[in-house]
Amino acid sequence: MCPENGRSVVYARNKRKLKEKNYQHQSSGAHKTAVDIVNVRKKQTLETCIHDANSHMFAETVRIFRTAYAVAKMNMPFTCQKTLVQLQELNGLDMGRVHRSDHSCASILKDMAVGMKKNLCLQIKNFDSSRCPYVR
Ligand SMILES: [Zn+2]
Repeated sequence: MCPENGRSVVYARNKRKLKEKNYQHQSSGAHKTAVDIVNVRKKQTLETCIHDANSHMFAETVRIFRTAYAVAKMNMPFTCQKTLVQLQELNGLDMGRVHRSDHSCASILKDMAVGMKKNLCLQIKNFDSSRCPYVR
């Protein structure tokens, strides 16, 4: 099988000549290069496709998380999440289809609080008091 000329037709005087041409072509540098290009293309297409989908979803999730954080930072009710998401969509951002409700906002903030608490505890544990002039 030759991936690069699937649509082209090879002419020969007889079967033996056709086999000979096919054999010569398969060991040629052009055929090997074409096979490599086809393989790289297949691999890159899949990777690019997955990367695009992931980065798009990641960007939507980041926007939703930032909105939830703003809700908490400004002491707004969780029900404001939906309105703020709608506002950002009106401003032209793609906010995705999920995590719009007040329940999602509460859940996101709960997870965020757990992560921030963990980070704070780690920083306190790793705090080097010898480097701080105010703590003795
Ligand atoms: Zn070929």
